[in-house]
Amino acid sequence: MRVYNFSAGPAVLPEEVLKEAADEMLDYNGTGMSVMEMSHRSKAYDDIIKTAEKDIRELMNIPDNYKVLFLQGGASQQFAAVPMNLMKNKKAAYIITGQWAKKAYQEAKLYGEAVDVASSADKTFSYIPDCSDLDIPEDADYVYICENNTIYGTKFKTLPNTKGKILVADVSSCFLSEPVDVTKYGVIYGGVQKNVGPAGLVISIIREDLITDDVLPGTPTMLKWKTQADNDSLYNTPNCYAIYICGKVFKWIKKMGGLEAMKAHNEKKAKILYDFLDQSKLFKGTVRPEDRSLMNVPFVTGSEELDAKFVKESKAAGLENLKGHRTVGGMRASIYNAMPVEGVEKLVEFMKEFEKNNG
Ligand SMILES: *Cc1c(COP(=O)(O)O)cnc(C)c1O
Repeated sequence: MRVYNFSAGPAVLPEEVLKEAADEMLDYNGTGMSVMEMSHRSKAYDDIIKTAEKDIRELMNIPDNYKVLFLQGGASQQFAAVPMNLMKNKKAAYIITGQWAKKAYQEAKLYGEAVDVASSADKTFSYIPDCSDLDIPEDADYVYICENNTIYGTKFKTLPNTKGKILVADVSSCFLSEPVDVTKYGVIYGGVQKNVGPAGLVISIIREDLITDDVLPGTPTMLKWKTQADNDSLYNTPNCYAIYICGKVFKWIKKMGGLEAMKAHNEKKAKILYDFLDQSKLFKGTVRPEDRSLMNVPFVTGSEELDAKFVKESKAAGLENLKGHRTVGGMRASIYNAMPVEGVEKLVEFMKEFEKNNG
């Protein structure tokens, strides 16, 4: 029996995709082998990776002057790759809206001067700071954001005013959840295990002029974007199986109506949960309403004891992984693309019942 899985990542994937992959496990498309067993240089695999790229380009409307790279090491590997590839002046501006932004900032400090130009640490990252007129250094190579903060449940609704600098965004937990204007970014990247596929793969969408040989001295060959771009993400053996699953998820999103439809689907689910939270006498959302994420919804009862009871009882009711991040406590429901509306309805029903019994 499948449960409703509210995990922040690795997270729920479309059931259809999992079934298809299961059907193809022993014999992919008449090849007589699993995708896990085939050469990444074979004709069959070439079709898989090329089709995946074509489909994500179509979904996100990615302009021709951007490369799509399928890389390893997860999102965290890009925390280092970004400064290594972009820090020509050895300076960059970071907006600190949570733990992932902070980790990227700390990593960048290993390679140059990372400047903390805004932060919401003063209120436990429960809001997005005003980024309309930041003090961005003249010689900053880029401005960095984590667009959706998985742990704290905030999302940038307006992109920062970068004052003409390149915008770099980690979109791991909002990847393909709504339409995006790629031209506003120099680099968009995301670990795929939140909304798109299996862990270990990161997709980086990078404007071509930012992919050069002019990288920091000592940059490993594998972390140089140019190496990967020149080899169509096949410099070495890529994460073949994860790319295959992502390809299937892209097809699923296309079938569902693309990113506009995903946005409507995600807004509908988030509204059900936030509307309940806003009128509940027991549960409280922790994020400033205008900055709320459509993907990750943290909430608390105000009592650690009740929180623990809720997590335990919800699990018994088939609602899994609702415990908040270890650093913030409380609860968090991650309601990514593949979470059906019924999952959120079930959750709210359960919360109502819990409130009645414990209010
Ligand atoms: C999960 C997550 C990461 C880390 O991803 P890994 O693939 O484990 O490195 C980075 N950024 C954000 C926003 C995340 O949600």
